[in-house]
Amino acid sequence: MADLKLTNVKKVYANQVEVMRDINLDIKKGEFIVFVGPSGCGKSTLLRMISGLEEISGGTLEIDGQVVNDIPPSLRGIAMVFQSYALYPHMTVYDNMAFSLQIAKVEKGEIDKQVRRAAEMLQLTPYLDRLPKALSGGQRQRVAIGRAIVRRPKVFLFDEPLSNLDAALRVATRMEIANLKESMPDSTMIYVTHDQVEAMTLADRIVLLSAGNIEQVGSPLELYERP
Ligand code: ADP
Ligand code: ADP
Repeated sequence: MADLKLTNVKKVYANQVEVMRDINLDIKKGEFIVFVGPSGCGKSTLLRMISGLEEISGGTLEIDGQVVNDIPPSLRGIAMVFQSYALYPHMTVYDNMAFSLQIAKVEKGEIDKQVRRAAEMLQLTPYLDRLPKALSGGQRQRVAIGRAIVRRPKVFLFDEPLSNLDAALRVATRMEIANLKESMPDSTMIYVTHDQVEAMTLADRIVLLSAGNIEQVGSPLELYERP
């Protein structure tokens, strides 16, 4: 539900190596953007700068027209889904999804509504009372996605969410994410992967990175199926 604008964004780590140079990118509300590129090209760095987990060394990041460089992660309206789904092992699926809303002192009925809505969307309703250890890897990753959904973020960031799953689960969970995109058409999604199939099936636009630069931006057809 948000526009994002990156203007001349740079990243220099403490070791003084410039790993990101003058990134310029406009992302429209509701777009599904996939960052692809070889290992070490800066995909995670870029995602972490957008989330606020990593400081921006130069340039500006705007969300809905507001510069957010100095705004902490919790206030950016962004939710991130990581490669390894760090669920709370002693909490049920329901409580894992409810937890961040409880911390934020959201009213109980509203928490229940959001958790059940997310569970329906992700086909987790039958598992709400289970502990994470009684779920498959794919189901656990869906709970991690559910935790992001309940917060109704403006922007979803996915950092290689399927890479820890075996092949069959990867396909099934990829389809869940495609469904999520359909059922939340107003949510802006940014997704990092090095898997071309994921990029082609999920992306509205693909951003190809190479050594800290944007190499190419285009639709899946433009990037992968040129004659
Ligand atoms: P990718 O996600 O595409 O694999 P990364 O964003 O993880 O790439 O890394 C981009 C570059 O930045 C790499 O050269 C990596 O070694 C470097 N890098 C990442 N994190 C740090 C850090 N905390 N300190 C110094 N260099 C880093
Ligand atoms: P990924 O492959 O998922 O991008 P990495 O193995 O590149 O993850 O990075 C794992 C962690 O190590 C990250 O927190 C990253 O910031 C850090 N890191 C990566 N490269 C460097 C580096 N050259 N110097 C210091 N920290 C780094």
